[in-house]
Amino acid sequence: MTVPADRESAAARATALRAEIERHNELYYLRDAPEVSDAAYDSLVRELREIEGAWPELVAPDSPTQRVGGDVADLFAPVAHAQRMYSLDNAMDLDELDAWLARVAEALGERPCAYVCELKIDGSSISLTYENGTLTVAATRGDGRTGENVTANVRTIADVPVALAPEALPAGGEPTLFGTPQWPRVDVRGEVYLPLASFERLNEDQVAAGAQPFANPRNAAAGSLRQKDAGVTASRDLATFAYAVAEPRALGLSRQSEVLEWLRRAGFHVNPDVQTCANAPAVHSFCEHALESRDRLPYEIDGVVIKVDSLAQQEELGHTSKAPRWAIAYKFPPEEKTTVLREIRVQVGRTGALTPLAEFDPVTVAGSTIARATLHNQDEIARKDVRVGDTIVVRKAGDVIPEVVGAIESLRPAGAQLWVMPAHCPSCAGEVWRPDGEVVTRCTNAGCPAQRLERLGHWAGRGAMDIDGMGAEIVTRLVESGALADVSDFYALDADTLAALDMGRTKKSGDAVTLGPVVAAKLIAAIDASRTRPMSRVLFGLGMRHVGSTVAEALAGEFGDIDALLSAAGVEPLAAGPGVTQAAALASDPIARVDGVGRVIADSVRAFLGNPENLALVARLRERGVAMAEERSAEARQQTLAGLTFVLTGALTRYTRDQAAIELKAYGAKVASSVSKKTSYVVAGAEAGSKLGKALELGVPVLTEDELVRVLETGEAPAGE
Ligand code: AMP
Ligand code: ZN
Repeated sequence: MTVPADRESAAARATALRAEIERHNELYYLRDAPEVSDAAYDSLVRELREIEGAWPELVAPDSPTQRVGGDVADLFAPVAHAQRMYSLDNAMDLDELDAWLARVAEALGERPCAYVCELKIDGSSISLTYENGTLTVAATRGDGRTGENVTANVRTIADVPVALAPEALPAGGEPTLFGTPQWPRVDVRGEVYLPLASFERLNEDQVAAGAQPFANPRNAAAGSLRQKDAGVTASRDLATFAYAVAEPRALGLSRQSEVLEWLRRAGFHVNPDVQTCANAPAVHSFCEHALESRDRLPYEIDGVVIKVDSLAQQEELGHTSKAPRWAIAYKFPPEEKTTVLREIRVQVGRTGALTPLAEFDPVTVAGSTIARATLHNQDEIARKDVRVGDTIVVRKAGDVIPEVVGAIESLRPAGAQLWVMPAHCPSCAGEVWRPDGEVVTRCTNAGCPAQRLERLGHWAGRGAMDIDGMGAEIVTRLVESGALADVSDFYALDADTLAALDMGRTKKSGDAVTLGPVVAAKLIAAIDASRTRPMSRVLFGLGMRHVGSTVAEALAGEFGDIDALLSAAGVEPLAAGPGVTQAAALASDPIARVDGVGRVIADSVRAFLGNPENLALVARLRERGVAMAEERSAEARQQTLAGLTFVLTGALTRYTRDQAAIELKAYGAKVASSVSKKTSYVVAGAEAGSKLGKALELGVPVLTEDELVRVLETGEAPAGE
């Protein structure tokens, strides 16, 4: 391809190419329906690059060459931050804020100090690198030293400039034909967030598609940024606020207020709600103002960030290992709302536990709408004294889980009754029972339909046998049709039965619908795949009391297969008493002596496996081809991580923490629950808390989820710092 020699034809060709490339981008990313091969597409982009190289004045900031690059392959690759991305210390109330203001004043020897107050945007932080004025890399914060490359995704965010406005750049940086870099590298820091309206819409879509809604806009923003397909990110309506530059001095700036001004000039969105304050009372009133305006803003904020304005004073104050001393995040108290309690509904769990659930008029709290919250048990309701009809105070615990704080007694309607646990199970009408000294009331009917549904769902669920696609709706229909009574029946289903399963009627035409052959075939394959799940999953899936996934893993690790566990369950351990110490009794019990198991759990396992019905169930599972043995490969796995201790914190997206722990242990690693100097690595998921802080304090290396995934996929210890 030759580059046109005259400007006019070059411009015409570039415009045509851009339009064509944009069309293919849309087909590829948004419609998932490419018309040309990757190679042909690349060739179009290459030609446009060549023209733009020869005619630099034809480079438009919105040219696809500035937006799409070969960097999709780099997605999530580690990016070392040239300047560390610090976290912020928190002030949980105004007293802590005052203490910080006093510390700053003291450190500065009572010299005058101005502060810049900014809203603390509740999103996900991002670093944007501009080389020679053009966006080259966008990275997440990660552990502050190393983040993840999310350039391809960030390029889809409409308000992120692909190039800095030239008027913001220092003089002397005029572009020259084929020039080498003339402008300093600029790292801009900011927050990517999801506006509340987009968040609500996204969650509606998630629910409609049968996916989990996001807990809050922050998680949704972080999740949207970490998409494998940039088209998904593009569809999410993300937005940004920029608030810092890594090396402001290089741009001739000397105050935070000037940094914000510069960012605005360079083309970034900068939050308008900023104030320079000369003293503590002014800082206080900004915090009050922020708290008041919180509900009116179209995005979520969780506090105010107060920064020392002068960069010289900032440098004087310096950093701790984790955060700057010259800034603090004043965190709002958890948002509370009032609403009316309409009903207390009782839910039946898999073990028959009855859990009262508060249903109240929907309210928006901390960015999302809530309408129900667990009340845990009868005692909890009595302690809080909430009654149907009450005006109640609700909030989100840790800003995620809805919680009923209490009732406003003065607004209680006359005649509101104290709530009592029903005497009969709401599902089977069977008797309920609350053992002395326990807080939980249970339905004791083994045939209780609600319990059965929960048990079946639990078996098919993620942490257990992970039968992909076997959701609550299908399980319910299968039970109704009589095809499913216990978990062994999953393995007797055939494609025809599933295909013909009655799924009710369509809303529109009222026609009867069946599951159909396509879904049926997928489900059969998923059921088949679950037959070979390791024994730990089977033990967890059976839902014995006290056997969570960690205990299941310990038991499976010790016994290897179900027969070994069954025979251990048949061993009558010594009873402690005259001549037999507790320790000897424990040692004589092959189940109780397993690390992490103990007497109570051993008794529960024995009770379960001693029950003839359960034994028959295990036999049926075996007959129907469920392996119930620990994976051979896990046994044979090389112990490449032996001697290393990991601590997991925060939420992971691709594993549960338990699963990740199981995998790490399979390579010989230890997984501990608290961080110490002996910890080799801390794995920090989303919203990692104090353990991450501890790790940074002790200098323990921190891994991102991606780094963990790499460790688990390769079995290789992470490379050193
Ligand atoms: P935390 O995650 O609680 O340690 O708070 C620190 C984070 O607050 C930073 O990493 C930023 O992502 C975020 N943040 C939000 N708004 C601002 C702001 N105006 N200035 C600095 N950081 C902010
Ligand atoms: Zn029941």
